[in-house]
Amino acid sequence: MTFDPAERVRKVPPSGIRRFFEIAEERDEVISLGVGEPDFSTPWAARDAAITSLEQGKTSYTANRGKRELRVAIADDVADRFDLGYDPDEEIIVTAGASEAVDLAFRAFVDPGDTVAIAQPSYISYEPGVTFAGGDVLSVPTTEENEFRLTVEALADAGAADAEMLVLCYPNNPTGAIMREADLEPIAEFAREHDLTVLSDEIYAELTYAGEHTSIATLEGMRERTVVFNGFSKAHAMTGLRLGYALAPADAVGAMNKIHQYTMLSAPTTAQYAALEALDSCADEVEGMVEQYDRRRRFVLSRFREIGMDVFEAKGAFYCFPEVPGGWTAAEFAEELLREQGVAVVPGDVFGEGGESHLRISYATSLADLREALRRIEAFLEEH
Ligand code: PMP
Repeated sequence: MTFDPAERVRKVPPSGIRRFFEIAEERDEVISLGVGEPDFSTPWAARDAAITSLEQGKTSYTANRGKRELRVAIADDVADRFDLGYDPDEEIIVTAGASEAVDLAFRAFVDPGDTVAIAQPSYISYEPGVTFAGGDVLSVPTTEENEFRLTVEALADAGAADAEMLVLCYPNNPTGAIMREADLEPIAEFAREHDLTVLSDEIYAELTYAGEHTSIATLEGMRERTVVFNGFSKAHAMTGLRLGYALAPADAVGAMNKIHQYTMLSAPTTAQYAALEALDSCADEVEGMVEQYDRRRRFVLSRFREIGMDVFEAKGAFYCFPEVPGGWTAAEFAEELLREQGVAVVPGDVFGEGGESHLRISYATSLADLREALRRIEAFLEEH
């Protein structure tokens, strides 16, 4: 007997990033600018709270939606930082990473045959998530000329007026683009006019280096049609603890929780204790990490310009998105750079439409490594 994967599983191609990690593993002295996770450890107080909770034997399930104390802390935090008002009892669900929350939303709100518009380039999990839920993906490209911000023209051109749902990710993985209130207003108007549900992945909100992050859910008439995702992986350097959350009106959270209570029961308990402490006492550490990312961002942008690679001014997350020089595809450039110089970057085409001629560079790595990586990229350019 062989296992015969379901149609919706067969439809999803293997991850385009994996091949690069395989090459990288074969070689010594590779500097990886490939992975999208902080190089910092989780702030000590949060780790300590997790350890203490284990010592105290706090290893049971929590409430399905997460510990109430944590939901209250999340509600206070998002109210403080992003002007988002959500009721901890009805409108917040704590999940195993933002990843679970995104998956829950697709499964809760996408019917087979529904169209989900995705602003691209974007994080690689949305397309498979839509396919697993039985929906159809509509790619809506963004362009470097417009600083990778989504426009109403792009939505209209792609036919998003007929879609059921729109997925946004700002600050953006992989481009580092952000969208300000003035950029979001016309998108919100489009969503209201065409009755789109909006999924807004704001996991990099805290990593905004120019001005304040604005959530589309704060715009007029948007709260009732938006699900906001955030979590502890990025700003709090907690990727391995697997903790995120979704904010949405009560009926939406109720639908997501219906799936969550049968498939996950509750998010990791130890991580919930860490997260509570992270919100309680780790603001200074987060600020320190954000400062370091910003310093690296400025360094990387200026070095790319110095060595003659075109790169737009990324203002959020921990990625920048330089253009590959003429004559190369992104995949060829990334592969040769890895073979010849031992620098791993991710070709932009894996992130969907609009990323074909760019590279994703993660600067969640030390300045010393970034300096050496940029030296090697410069040598690579000189050789070709
Ligand atoms: N959304 C985006 C845009 C991401 O880049 C990532 C992680 N790479 C996630 C969600 C997943 O985050 P988590 O670890 O909370 O599941």
